[in-house]
Amino acid sequence: MGECLCTCGDERQNVLVFACSGASNLGQITNQSALRLMAEGFGKMFCLAGIGGGVESFINSAKLAEEVVALDGCAVGCALATLRRQGIEPTYYLQVSQLNIPRKPEPEVLPEEVEKVVTAVKKAWGEKKDGNLPG
Ligand code: SF4
Repeated sequence: MGECLCTCGDERQNVLVFACSGASNLGQITNQSALRLMAEGFGKMFCLAGIGGGVESFINSAKLAEEVVALDGCAVGCALATLRRQGIEPTYYLQVSQLNIPRKPEPEVLPEEVEKVVTAVKKAWGEKKDGNLPG
């Protein structure tokens, strides 16, 4: 197994964000939204592929996280299924398709679509945490 060069091995992270990162526009919206959330100081994006691949250190880090945010593009729910398969239950879960963002033949992502997802996550989090966003 090679050395991890991303942030996934850092067990200090208490809020992890997983995106399905699917090939459709909806999946790519989850990816860009997770990146935006992290850039804005909302938790850390984590490698869903590591969870799906059964990489023990990734699974352990996810299980140690205080909060797990999962973003799926559509009702197929790949991120949710991947996490649950390893015994990880998200504390917040969102399907992009439920925000009335249409599926398109091309994986084109519009800034306003990402904005919609980021706003929805932050709003839900604010309601849950009484306005305190996770770092
Ligand atoms: S949840 Fe939907 S968009 Fe995401 S990877 Fe699965 S099928 Fe693709």
